[in-house]
Amino acid sequence: MKYNQRLTINELLKLLDNYNHKEFHIHHTWKPNYSNMKNSTPEKVNDGMRSYHKSLGWGEIGQHISTFPDGTILIGRNFSKKPVSIANRNTGNFAMEQVGDFDLGKDIITVKQRQITLELIRYFMKRGTKIVFHREYSSKTCPGTSLHKSGLVEASDYYLNNPGELRKWITGEDVAELQRKLGMTGRDVDGSFGNDTEKALKEYQTKNKLPVTGIYDNATRNYMEKGEKPMETTYRRLFIHGIEAKSVTVKDGKSYLWMESIGKLVPLVEFFEILGLKVEERPYGNGKALYVENKEV
Ligand SMILES: [Zn+2]
Repeated sequence: MKYNQRLTINELLKLLDNYNHKEFHIHHTWKPNYSNMKNSTPEKVNDGMRSYHKSLGWGEIGQHISTFPDGTILIGRNFSKKPVSIANRNTGNFAMEQVGDFDLGKDIITVKQRQITLELIRYFMKRGTKIVFHREYSSKTCPGTSLHKSGLVEASDYYLNNPGELRKWITGEDVAELQRKLGMTGRDVDGSFGNDTEKALKEYQTKNKLPVTGIYDNATRNYMEKGEKPMETTYRRLFIHGIEAKSVTVKDGKSYLWMESIGKLVPLVEFFEILGLKVEERPYGNGKALYVENKEV
């Protein structure tokens, strides 16, 4: 491993297998920011940070890796050395600097750069490594007020399995694009999927008679991009009262119920199975019918 070496995400994850870091520290550089990246290269930007860190008496660059808007990953400090990352929390931990200023209203993280962060969060979560945002132990906003920890942790699961789906508290250029499509303008287009974006999305879903999930899911994306309505369900009625047929949605060939109480789509089959009923979906006309204990419902 050497300074300024470029790594793909897979090479990075393989390399990390050789270490046993206790915490994964997530930062943004604040400066340099995206506009400082123009007319420069990741290597030059890393060199600039190294010179600065040396001038602070750190001996070398503080972080183990730097990530860049184009998806480049560069090695900084050797992974076996402790970083200069968070006061009193450096020993045995791993530090990443995302180059950019991710405070609200400043840089909006690119999908490529966010992807690296999501992959690393997923990797470290699986290993039981603690995920730490710098601001949890500092008065700084680092890694930026536009980045939400809960959203990124959740997205490291759903987004990596279903790229394109966007939920509350994720951030990125793709969210900004969604916000523009929803008719949001000016400072509201901040790339951060918060309450205002969720509200606008739900209004759009209601208006267009889509499942009102508040999630930019396949049904909404297909409608927005191609004008395709989600497949109609063929359930004629549901015998559990309190659940209306209109709340059933078919997505990726499976049927779901939108459960307002937990804010989630629950697979219909799972729902009935929780009630101890044997459930099966069978073809019915152009759609599907639901059989509970071998009786059509
Ligand atoms: Zn920081």
